[in-house]
Amino acid sequence: MAILIDGKAIAADVKAGVAEKCAALKEKGIEPALAVILVGEDPASQVYVRNKARACKACGMKSHVIRMPEETTQEELIAKIREINADDAIHGLLIQLPLPKHLDEAAALSEVDWKKDVDGFHLMNAGALLSGQASVLPCTPAGCIELLKRSGVELKGANAVVIGRSNIVGKPMALLLLQENCTVTVCHSKTKNLGEITKNADILVAAIGRAKFVKADMIKPGAAVIDVGINRLEDGTLAGDVDFEEAEKVAGWITPVPGGVGPMTIAMLMENTVRAAEAQAK
Ligand code: NAD
Repeated sequence: MAILIDGKAIAADVKAGVAEKCAALKEKGIEPALAVILVGEDPASQVYVRNKARACKACGMKSHVIRMPEETTQEELIAKIREINADDAIHGLLIQLPLPKHLDEAAALSEVDWKKDVDGFHLMNAGALLSGQASVLPCTPAGCIELLKRSGVELKGANAVVIGRSNIVGKPMALLLLQENCTVTVCHSKTKNLGEITKNADILVAAIGRAKFVKADMIKPGAAVIDVGINRLEDGTLAGDVDFEEAEKVAGWITPVPGGVGPMTIAMLMENTVRAAEAQAK
């Protein structure tokens, strides 16, 4: 049976460290603050935003949730981003994705002041990550690396396979694994013989968005399996991209869904925000 990687416990540990840093900043008269812009009524986004605000409170950080109506125009959104960029009392700004279809996501993200870009999605930060100079790492992939390291998984020289090539998970995940000296393969919807490739992975990261897609016969015995997927099943429960029940019998380590990568994403967001506040205080 695989060792269960307890994302909740590791996230709590990370957030405790953030709370200490927040307390130290407050002694210098700085209250770290995160602003989240939420456009529209997407139910999943509402939950994520609520969880982020709750985490801020737990870390002793201020949070501002800016709710904008579904019919918000690109100009109105940009104006709001600029207003927050100019506000010295706010250190981190994130735009909750996905935005309503009529809005240009890439244009909005590039409008965020890169020093306040705690999601690490700004082109400046994405470029810094590519060249190994990043000061802020995208929260979900950074959380996955933290889970692996704190679980004692050997990264150096490991064969790592990432399924998914999105800008927010798959691609930055591959870059971070490369930085940790893994040999990295990125798979996607056009990959041939996917199972043959994943079977060679010492570390397998699934970021696909398809419930229970990764089966036991795709996993190398003893591998570390990190499940990024969050999929809502018909009965209302959540499932990852990995068929957990099958996979835990083969894998060496595995993250559950929920309670794996999800809590770490928020913990890393807290870490990025307090770091942004520290950097801006200098
Ligand atoms: P995305 O839709 O942008 O990307 C999915 C990727 O999966 C694509 O690159 C695609 O090529 C690949 N893919 C699709 N079908 C495939 C197939 N049959 N075989 C191989 N590859 C295939 O999604 P995303 O934003 O990267 O998110 C992926 C999943 O992770 C989703 O379930 C999302 O909800 C979840 N997610 C979780 C967190 C978290 O904090 N836990 C954060 C972000 C995303």
